[in-house]
Amino acid sequence: MSFGSLGLSDELLKTVAEQGYTTPSSIQIEAIPAVLSQRDVMAVAHTGTGKTAGFTLPMVQLLSGGLSPENSPEAKIVRALIIAPTRELAAQVANSVQTYGHDLNIRSAAVFGGMRIEPQIAELAGGLDILVATPGRLIDLYNQQAINFDQLEILVLDEADRMLDLGFIDDIRHIQTLLPMKRQTLMFSATFSKGIKSFAQGLLNDPLLIEVDIDNSTVDTIKQKIHPVDKERKTEVLIHLIKQNKWPQVLVFVRTKREADSLVVELQNADINADSIHANRTQHARTRALEGFKNESIVVLVATDIASRGIDVNQLPCVVNVDLPFVPEDYVHRIGRTGRAGSSGVAISLFSEDEYKQLHSIERIIGRKFDREVIPGFEPSVAALAHPSADDADEEYGNFEPDPVSPRKGKGRGKSKGRRSRGSNSSPRKPR
Ligand code: AMP
Repeated sequence: MSFGSLGLSDELLKTVAEQGYTTPSSIQIEAIPAVLSQRDVMAVAHTGTGKTAGFTLPMVQLLSGGLSPENSPEAKIVRALIIAPTRELAAQVANSVQTYGHDLNIRSAAVFGGMRIEPQIAELAGGLDILVATPGRLIDLYNQQAINFDQLEILVLDEADRMLDLGFIDDIRHIQTLLPMKRQTLMFSATFSKGIKSFAQGLLNDPLLIEVDIDNSTVDTIKQKIHPVDKERKTEVLIHLIKQNKWPQVLVFVRTKREADSLVVELQNADINADSIHANRTQHARTRALEGFKNESIVVLVATDIASRGIDVNQLPCVVNVDLPFVPEDYVHRIGRTGRAGSSGVAISLFSEDEYKQLHSIERIIGRKFDREVIPGFEPSVAALAHPSADDADEEYGNFEPDPVSPRKGKGRGKSKGRRSRGSNSSPRKPR
């Protein structure tokens, strides 16, 4: 399958080639023609699958031509709205819109919190083809009468599952009441939970259901390793691994903002160039840290979960979880920062005695048990950490047989090359 057969214009085929994309990903094969046909779409796509291009490419084509000169003075209109849960993701998506829409005269902007609102109001004043926004700032701007949705044609909800996790459901429901009923709506989510299904209801009209990655599957290109260590030696182990492996870039996850800040100091004391990205930092500091990481002037970026969704670094070789997340789905999102778009990556988790529960939950949702690899010189003092007995494991994990395939209703769900069915990927049975 080539990009040429998806219905994209010659200008966009040129743009795609300039990006170095030779073959469309599974989500792109399904989403691009569907969006071009102006259908509503509910896509279950794991991050790193190329989903952003899957919706932005056809959107810029539909909107191409831009605003007519007569329309421009009709200030504040937005023809397409993309809502993203985090600032980093909004900035990332806006970048894609900018890249793909550049040759098609698409006027776009991104608005999110942590930045002054006045320049954003000024940007909206002339009207836009595409606005990328986080929910809170969007509502603020609407309340200040900076936006007019009367001519809205397309609404996209990106990473809808994350929006639910972060408690944005009421904001989205409110935004929905402000938009024209007649519009095309696209929803993207990494999971297709009950919550997402009911969230989608009323927002989408007879959507085409596209599924390219099942819930919580982890990409095959990511090698996952668990190193049992004593809690108080985690920083020491991290420094050892960074120096030993000479990784050019490592994304490191911790649970709290405070842990992120103190880890940065300890890494710097060990002569490792590090910075952090979390909700307490100013938007300017977050952007600077991400930029430094992307251009490799910063070797280690320490992040909390909130920031993880928007981090897209080409060929990121390694992610390290210094702490295991409390929410097991966050593990999948964290490690999904590496092994993106088919490149390979390694995800390392440092596991200490107090984290049995988290590790079990992660293994349960992923559907397999990881080997524990002890690092010579850093053997844990609790020996059982490294060697859980088979009996324990059985009792704790249940057995990992796939759930029976439950037939799902959904219009237009044809076969696709990259799609995996629920049955083919061992999704864990509930523990006995
Ligand atoms: P996403 O899942 O949208 O966050 O995209 C993940 C990464 O894949 C981004 O860095 C994109 O630039 C890249 N990408 C998107 N489409 C393709 C493609 N067809 N071939 C290669 N890389 C792609």
